[in-house]
Parts: sequence; C-alpha cells; structure tokens
Amino acid sequence: MEDRSPKFLRGRSFLSVADDMLKTRTYGIGRICIVDGCGTRLSAYNPSSVCALHGGAWQDDFHRSARKSSRREEIGRRCAFEPCAREFTTTNPAKKYCSDACRMRAFQARVMVARRMGDMRGARRAS
Ligand SMILES: [Zn+2]
Ligand SMILES: [Zn+2]
Repeated sequence: MEDRSPKFLRGRSFLSVADDMLKTRTYGIGRICIVDGCGTRLSAYNPSSVCALHGGAWQDDFHRSARKSSRREEIGRRCAFEPCAREFTTTNPAKKYCSDACRMRAFQARVMVARRMGDMRGARRAS
C-alpha cells in the first residue's frame, strides 16, 4: 500500500500553492520571439526572449555557419588554364580555373598533350 501524494496535493491548499508556483515561474504572456520575421508567441514559461526554435545551442551553430559563409574571404587568383590566365576571385581555395569552361579546356588540353605524346612515341617507334 503506497500513498505517494503528500496530503496537501489533495486539499484546496495545493491549488493555491500551485497557483503561486505558476506565477513565480512565468515570464509574461504575449511576448513574441525577438528574432526578426519569426513572430512566434513565446511560452510564458520560456525565460529567454526567443522561441524554442531560435533559442539554445542550435542558434549559435546556425549563426556561426551563416557568418562563416557570408564572411568567406575572396581569393584573387589567375586561371590555371594558361591560354586564358584570366584573374578571378573565388571563395573556394581549391578552385584553379576562372570558369568551368576553362577547367574543361584545361582537361581537354591535358588529354590532347598526352595523346600527342603518345602519337609521337608511336611515330618514333614506326620510323
Ligand atoms: Zn523565433
Ligand atoms: Zn580561365
């Protein structure tokens, strides 16, 4: 036989105690998330001034990555495709060509060179 609930839980006094607890724990009703464009009504039990979506560690991660992408530094480079050699800026440190077209042409040029060298070797062998 167990009776876990303290006696006051069942009495009228509990209601007023709970009411007091509720009052001290609330942070105001009708507040709205301070994040622009959110407009989510905040729970009276939410101690922060942003909604659950905009609160917590998630928010920090989101802001950090957003900052990172907007602040990525532009790198000045010269196109690695020599006939082009155009100067360009990129935020991608791995980018070597000013455009996909140059990347393709450089690739094709490499293939052509390899093929020509193969031809030369074949020609030499033939003579
Ligand atoms: Zn929000
Ligand atoms: Zn180029």
